Amino acid sequence: MELFDHPDFDGHEQVVFAHDSNSGLRAIIAVHDTRLGPALGGCRIWRYSSDGEALTDVLRLSRGMSYKAALADLPLGGGKSVMLVTGDRPKTPAMMQALGSAIDRLGGRYIAAEDVGATVADMDQVATRTGHVSGNSGGVGDPSPWTARGVFLSIEAAARHRLGRGVGDLSVSVSGLGSVGGQLCRMLAEAGARLVVSDVRAEAVAAVVAATGAGREAPEAAHRAAVDVFAPCALGAVLNSRTIPEISAKIVCGAANNQLSASSDDALLADREILYAPDYLVNVGGLISVSRPPTGIGDAAAKAKLEAIPATLLSVFEKADAESIAPGAAADALARGRLGM
Ligand code: NAD
Repeated sequence: MELFDHPDFDGHEQVVFAHDSNSGLRAIIAVHDTRLGPALGGCRIWRYSSDGEALTDVLRLSRGMSYKAALADLPLGGGKSVMLVTGDRPKTPAMMQALGSAIDRLGGRYIAAEDVGATVADMDQVATRTGHVSGNSGGVGDPSPWTARGVFLSIEAAARHRLGRGVGDLSVSVSGLGSVGGQLCRMLAEAGARLVVSDVRAEAVAAVVAATGAGREAPEAAHRAAVDVFAPCALGAVLNSRTIPEISAKIVCGAANNQLSASSDDALLADREILYAPDYLVNVGGLISVSRPPTGIGDAAAKAKLEAIPATLLSVFEKADAESIAPGAAADALARGRLGM
């Protein structure tokens, strides 16, 4: 397995392999960049098929966090952690505590919060061993309503930019109906959007269909739905050379991290005249929420940053148009500029 020559190694400041024999913890913590502040980023708990897959995920996710914080103008760096679990060895409170100890040893360079597979209760376990955690129940709680709000505002802005229409006149395919996707569906439905929804969990689909009157779609067909907007809200790499030619939506805007399988996929979308709203820009709401305790940003200022996401998104679209580049490349360039890279 490559480390410094890994295709996703981007000058990360620190990559820590955390192991604890007593609890069975196996985790990787990646601190990408701390020039703007401590690296705040979620902990993903996932059944990776290999250690290499976990390393790739944490390298990419932590870099995305640096860009995300920079574009939201937060005094934070980028980091992420992944915990490797299996069917036989699921997460336990003892593992979360051991992760807390590993985080504590970094002395505040990395601050954990929730990501896929991690709950507020898990962060409470982490918090028994370190103060370098946010999103626990003693803190600001679940970040997903903030994330959903930011994605909702971004869909509205992207639709007005590309289609000249607001959310109430849109059809949207939402794939992934978890914490963020479920709330996004409710917001879209309340605003009058027509929904098509999918998830690998039938009970999640049933709950959203009952609450919103949405139509159902098979998870593997979500990107092919004949809608205005495709909103990926499950896992990453859904935009790739196989799926992009099949997308019928004119806009892709969703919460999932790392939606592009490869950075060149951004250009494939642009070639098909599909407007891609960069994932780490539109899903920054959760980070804004959990950044409140470590940065001391007040609630009103945090809410203002959340509502400012569409303005940043529009500036990215304008830069992309002006320079004839894809929006993902434009967002990366803006973020790297703010990071002084
Ligand atoms: P979650 O675990 O609550 O929900 C994910 C959902 O996706 C689950 O319902 C799961 O069953 C479903 N899913 C898994 N594989 C699928 C597939 N192949 N097709 C369709 N559905 C599938 O996670 P979440 O907190 O809602 O986060 C969703 C995405 O948004 C993730 O990529 C996450 O990294 C990103 N994100 C979340 C936040 C947040 O505040 N929670 C913030 C920023 C980014």
